[in-house]
Amino acid sequence: MRLLAMDDEPMMLRFVERLAVQTGAESRTTTDPPVFLRIAHEWAPDFVLIDLQMPNLDGLQLLRELACRRCSATIVLMSAFEPMVLETMRRIGTSFGLSMGDVLQKPMTVASFARALAHKMPTSGLSRIDALSQAIDRGELVLHWQPIVDLTSKQITGMEALCRWQHPDLGLVYPDSFVPLAETGGLGQRLSAWVLDQAFAQAAIWSCYGVRPTISINVSPETFEATEFADVLEAQRIEHGLTADQICLELTEASTARNPTRLRETMTHLRQANYRVALDHFGTGSSTLQLIESLPCTELKIDKSFVLHLMDSEDATAIVRAILALASALNVQVIAEGIESDEVACTLQASGCRLGQGYWFARPMPAASATVLLRRSAA
Ligand code: MG
Repeated sequence: MRLLAMDDEPMMLRFVERLAVQTGAESRTTTDPPVFLRIAHEWAPDFVLIDLQMPNLDGLQLLRELACRRCSATIVLMSAFEPMVLETMRRIGTSFGLSMGDVLQKPMTVASFARALAHKMPTSGLSRIDALSQAIDRGELVLHWQPIVDLTSKQITGMEALCRWQHPDLGLVYPDSFVPLAETGGLGQRLSAWVLDQAFAQAAIWSCYGVRPTISINVSPETFEATEFADVLEAQRIEHGLTADQICLELTEASTARNPTRLRETMTHLRQANYRVALDHFGTGSSTLQLIESLPCTELKIDKSFVLHLMDSEDATAIVRAILALASALNVQVIAEGIESDEVACTLQASGCRLGQGYWFARPMPAASATVLLRRSAA
């Protein structure tokens, strides 16, 4: 395993080199951005660790240059920045098509470093896009489900479908590592058709048990903009006997839309057909206020970076309050992502947020466990 790190503190780089030895990785380090970009290109590291808080460094520009050079390494951001800032940078990297790994908050520990390196993107033998294509054929992809819960009654109102790659050697690989790859490599439509089919088939099974949660599907702007998406969606919905109002399409990374007019047309068409439409990760990325005005959404999902810091950051509290007020004025539903404690759940509920999602209630889980939970919740 090859690891390239850039930081302006030589001490930090020595620390990374020592950790690399402990985890059996080969490492190269530098304090100089042009040298860094050259090594990233020529040496083809598996992991790139970057401190975005360096003098005279534009972090966004650096991520853009890595994307232009088609860097396929897993990129780990390390910094003493606010977690919210790091999370936003990570999202932006994903929207550039980079494979973004964990975020390492400084000061780093051996444990957090090892965890970050555990999120390895499969590379062995085949090109990564061929490996992914083969994984779809071989049935190595699975959907996990995370409940969306009514914060007052604690009943499950919805289930979000989350794609995982059950890799034979690496275990569960998360979508951040392969969905952007699928989209830049021409597999986006195949992957989204697979997700729709699997998710709707599961919803049809749940209907047989008498439970009908809203089924939330993550949809990228590229997928929304594809001409066949609305037809594939409608055909799958009818085939599995679902109603459109039972389906919520969560628009991810809306700010990266290449064709905003086309995106708006498709979303308006689907909204008229009675599908629910959510703006995912609301509050991060750029121009989200403009999007809510121009796109016909029925719900906003408050990004977890705000919810996670609700109890310890005045900024996060102010942003969450502002989103709730905005949603109320526009008459759209709000779902808070990333609820990890009862205290946060109660605070949100008292502030007028009706729905929530997060480890506080349940982690994403396989369909069988989700079925048990749904039936218990409905009983
Ligand atoms: Mg989502």
